[in-house]
Amino acid sequence: MADIYRNALITLSAAWAANSRDGLFSSASPEHIDSCLSSITGRAGDDEIRIRTPIWHDKAEHHLMSRAWAFQERILSPRILHFGRHELIWECGKDIACECSALSKWLEPMRFVTWPTLKSSIRFNFIAQKSGPQIGKVWRDAVSDYSTMSLTFPSDILPAISGIAKEISKTTNRRYLAGLWIESLPADLCWGVLVTLDSLARRPPKWRAPTFSWASVISQSGVDYGLLAQSGLTADSWDSDITLLARQHFELIEAGATLAGADPTGQVIDGYLLLRCTLVEAKVQVSPLPYRGWEVTLSATDDRQGIWYFPDYDYNVEGRHHVESGDAVYCFKVLSLPANADMEEAGEAIYLVLRRTKDDETSERMADTDEVAVKTYERIGLLRDWENGDLFSKAQTAGTTILEDVVIKIV
Ligand SMILES: [Zn+2]
Repeated sequence: MADIYRNALITLSAAWAANSRDGLFSSASPEHIDSCLSSITGRAGDDEIRIRTPIWHDKAEHHLMSRAWAFQERILSPRILHFGRHELIWECGKDIACECSALSKWLEPMRFVTWPTLKSSIRFNFIAQKSGPQIGKVWRDAVSDYSTMSLTFPSDILPAISGIAKEISKTTNRRYLAGLWIESLPADLCWGVLVTLDSLARRPPKWRAPTFSWASVISQSGVDYGLLAQSGLTADSWDSDITLLARQHFELIEAGATLAGADPTGQVIDGYLLLRCTLVEAKVQVSPLPYRGWEVTLSATDDRQGIWYFPDYDYNVEGRHHVESGDAVYCFKVLSLPANADMEEAGEAIYLVLRRTKDDETSERMADTDEVAVKTYERIGLLRDWENGDLFSKAQTAGTTILEDVVIKIV
């Protein structure tokens, strides 16, 4: 299907339709229809001056815009004519325009522009830069937008964006792994879930992606790469200028996934990363409601030394994903940025918060061998060390275990 949209001359989008029976055409409200302000009689006859008030391009009135399957169709189509609730809207690789004139990529940000809802005009970036060095950033922006959209079947999370993944794979020869790219892995791992007071993310009822993938969570507010953005890293893809700025703190030994079908960008049955890295042991401390924040507290330190972090999902839900206050976790250092003396900024580092998988702990207890087995972990959160090295110095002061050069598996 991706090829059909990619090669289409124009795509017609029933943007306002709530279902397949609503069709393309909608009746605009009277206030959104243009009206004649005055008539001028000239040599060539009568001319009219007509006016139309700008529209609030409400996403809620354009149902197709929140459907996950329609996302890649919108990104891949070279030109789209959207049939909106009150007007027609044009999108192409160069511009966006509508009948009320409030939408234009040149006029952002405007009060009336809630319509595109796509981060940094992903369509323009995707078409212009799909083979360029910014593709890592373009993909992450696409994931941020896509992850807010709704799916009837949660298991479609990877298939419904596979058209974009295939395009990237075709033009760049990058290696895809369950929603991430090996070539930009350090940055791609730094996704986080936007935490709001009333909607925490959750794990899907049925497994659909390894925990290092953004596809392993369902979040109404979507996933985000805000920590990278705050670190000034979004402007560059991992494999170009960014390497001058950031330092990767792990070595990828092996990565893989078992595919559910023949499509390498489609659904997966399992996936893993085998890495050599540094881990800092810690404990989770759950803050009381209503804040519902979590802190990683380093073992042997008091509560005041806890570090707030972004949990990947709601730990309070009972079941196999439940995390208890006091549970052991491991902070895996992914990347760091040097201090910027000019900006008076301290360096910082980004960690994944991991815990041992339950299955792995059980099999270890049962195993009767002296061989050092590779331990298996799952990701449960994202942590930013504002003062790079702060976590380490706190850990050292506290006498906490720091595991250096350890080989681990994340599933
Ligand atoms: Zn408009």
